[in-house]
Amino acid sequence: MKVQAGSKPLSEKRRKQQPEKRAVLCPVYKKCGGCQLLHMDYKKQLNWKREQLAALLKPYGKLEGIIGMEMPEHYRHKVHAVFGRDGKGKVISGVYKEGTHMIVPVENCLLENEKADAIIQTVKELLKSFKIKTYDEDTGYGLLRHVLVRAGYSTGQIMVVLVLGSPILPSKNNFVKALRKVHPEITTVVVNVNDKRTSMVLGEKEQVIYGPGYIEDQLCGMTFKISPKSFYQVNPVQTEVLYKKAIAFAGLSGKEVVLDAYCGTGTIGMLASPQAGSVIGVELNKDAVRDAIAGAKRNKLPNIHFYQADAGDFMERMADGGEKVDVVFMDPPRTGSSEKFLAALVKLKPRKVVYISCNPETLARDLKYLNGKGYRMKTGVGVDMFPFTKHVETVCLLSRKAQ
Ligand code: SAH
Repeated sequence: MKVQAGSKPLSEKRRKQQPEKRAVLCPVYKKCGGCQLLHMDYKKQLNWKREQLAALLKPYGKLEGIIGMEMPEHYRHKVHAVFGRDGKGKVISGVYKEGTHMIVPVENCLLENEKADAIIQTVKELLKSFKIKTYDEDTGYGLLRHVLVRAGYSTGQIMVVLVLGSPILPSKNNFVKALRKVHPEITTVVVNVNDKRTSMVLGEKEQVIYGPGYIEDQLCGMTFKISPKSFYQVNPVQTEVLYKKAIAFAGLSGKEVVLDAYCGTGTIGMLASPQAGSVIGVELNKDAVRDAIAGAKRNKLPNIHFYQADAGDFMERMADGGEKVDVVFMDPPRTGSSEKFLAALVKLKPRKVVYISCNPETLARDLKYLNGKGYRMKTGVGVDMFPFTKHVETVCLLSRKAQ
């Protein structure tokens, strides 16, 4: 089992505890439900994930193993807290109990970046003096719904997003000042307005109240722009491992036409572009596409272009237009890819497909489809992006059977 260097261990004592005791050390372990594997020691967690994955992928190919973290705590660089009140009217922030809208108060979490957690606590403390009320989901009254913090891994830049039920944050400049007095490392603060009765965290409208409205981060030597609504992997240490594997699997020679589907802020395509002839990225979220275009410029990559579209529609148009693609990277959301996408992929006939997945079940489903259409899984590896949780990330290389 390979291990990967990670961020500083913050609670050596907690690491050394017996797993059963560790579970007890998290006061909300049972109520929160986020750390399904906290009761297992880390090696056991990795074995459990490897076995699950190997069993699911067995009909299609062999797994190289799973790459774990050397220091698996506090890896989440994106932290979300929901705000509300407890039965006694006290302001609380934390997570929804799984499958409910009950708030479980969380002050610090084994998974989350500690600075982000501290910022959320400071926001909570400031609410009283600024007379800001938390939003009540049942009545629709109140203002603050959620706080989202994104911490750049290598840049140290920090973005705070205050999600409000209505557009006006009273004394916003003083609020920012008070928050930055405690946390001068905050580089931008954005107000996001979510006035809908929805379980979506972020609404459409945004107002930047401090700094540029985005942060930058560096991975594998390139710089990426991250806006509040753009997808960006939450575990930067393991993301580097994952991206390096994905690009190594593609075995690019410098000439290929590469497609990065479900590209988010364009990270994989950009990292592949110096080793490819040209790269096309496609992504549905317009903010992510805007970040991707800015990133390509920032990293001076002339051979990459991004398009905002449904990946299935885009692939279909390419296939119908008789376009040529040599290598496809695909990194769909948990629901996996669509049949439209997969059918168009088969029609496009790339030599290689590098499938990155955050859900082994939909991965297995899509591999089954592709296997039936002449794509064989050559190799695959798990990368533990989400220690202490049941989630498993995988990267697989598929290649087209010679005809
Ligand atoms: N490869 C990127 C993003 C992966 S997450 C990275 O590593 O950061 C999956 C991405 O797919 C998200 O950015 C999401 O907005 C996008 N997405 C979801 N459905 C899509 C669709 N139908 N077409 C295109 N992109 C989609």
